[in-house]
Amino acid sequence: MIKLFIMLLLISITTFSFAKDLARPIDKPEETFQQWLISFKKKALAKGISTKTINSAFNGVSPNEEILALDSRQAEFFSTFWQYFNRAVSEIRIKKGQELYKKQLPQLTKITKKYGIPAEILVAFLGLETNYGSYTGNRPVIESLATLAYDKRRREFFSAELLSALKLIDKGYVNLAQMKGSWAGAIGQCQFMPSNYLRYAIDADDDGKKDLWNSLPDILNSMGNFLKKLGWQKNQDWAVEVTLPRKFDFSLADGRTEHSLKEWQKLGVGLAASKKIAQNMQQIPAKLVLPSNYQGPAFLVYKNFFIIKKWNNSTKYALAVGYLADRIVGLPPLSKAQPKGDKAISRKQIVELQQLLINKGYKLGDADGVAGSQTRQALRQYQKQHYMPADGYPSYKMLQIIRYNKSS
Ligand code: CA
Repeated sequence: MIKLFIMLLLISITTFSFAKDLARPIDKPEETFQQWLISFKKKALAKGISTKTINSAFNGVSPNEEILALDSRQAEFFSTFWQYFNRAVSEIRIKKGQELYKKQLPQLTKITKKYGIPAEILVAFLGLETNYGSYTGNRPVIESLATLAYDKRRREFFSAELLSALKLIDKGYVNLAQMKGSWAGAIGQCQFMPSNYLRYAIDADDDGKKDLWNSLPDILNSMGNFLKKLGWQKNQDWAVEVTLPRKFDFSLADGRTEHSLKEWQKLGVGLAASKKIAQNMQQIPAKLVLPSNYQGPAFLVYKNFFIIKKWNNSTKYALAVGYLADRIVGLPPLSKAQPKGDKAISRKQIVELQQLLINKGYKLGDADGVAGSQTRQALRQYQKQHYMPADGYPSYKMLQIIRYNKSS
């Protein structure tokens, strides 16, 4: 069987067999936008927003189909871990981060003292969110949020954010002309959603404004405040890169299994040369994360890794923030690099992979094109039963193997 596995890895296949169209139809509500807007304005008024703010904010606003297209397109394509990572933590971004870190160190040190967040973590978030403030988004936030609040898919969430955006204008924190951001309504150099702006933004330079566009003291202190409230563990690292032996039980990277370093070491985990583990982290339980397949990098992650995920619920994003922070303070690159032939898997192909697993009797819920924990768990079981490293990584190669292994 192992021979078969290796042989299949070597076969290059070009057939495409799956054609189900997955583009999300725009979920148009029963009422027109104008009808929806009338009732939303009433709600806003009842929440204490002034008529003046409401009228000026919605003046000429209509739903933007482009926003809905961006919202539904987001999950259609998946880049591989390496494709994402090399873009997110490029050499130029590391260099720019180091410059900002050096220049702002006195201010950053004060913020670390106050909120417990390491300076390099704050700088790394800025790097990931807006390339250190160089691109904060140009879309009118009220239009984007109104479009997404009118759409049925995530109506509740975006209605609340739209209301928060109106509050920001009403309180005079931000003026309407300034209200530009990402297509999803995130604003400022740190890309806060309006509700987070309301809750966590700080006027650190005492000019009477909470300015997340232009005031670096306001921006960095607000981020520190936010991360502290999210539960950042002071004086704890976020993760450490590790090495795994060839015959490791890769299914231990299941998002649940948790051990201290010593226990992981008993299972064959070693420390990669890229980073030393701090003394105080050795007793703290850690989970094993394999963001790519079993040949890719491996990390033992601690609580702060999950705090980064609370900011943006993506493993790749959280690893990129932490790794960029490490590089900013001079740590060396990861011990692994992007392999040749690293190929992205499409959403359609994930559906196909899920359907093949379901047909073989594995339980993973619906074939929805999202490789969540159930899909990964089912894939690990499949891999174990076929004597492959059970990394649960839904790669294009894995799909090829399952396609050509239809009988077993
Ligand atoms: Ca200020």
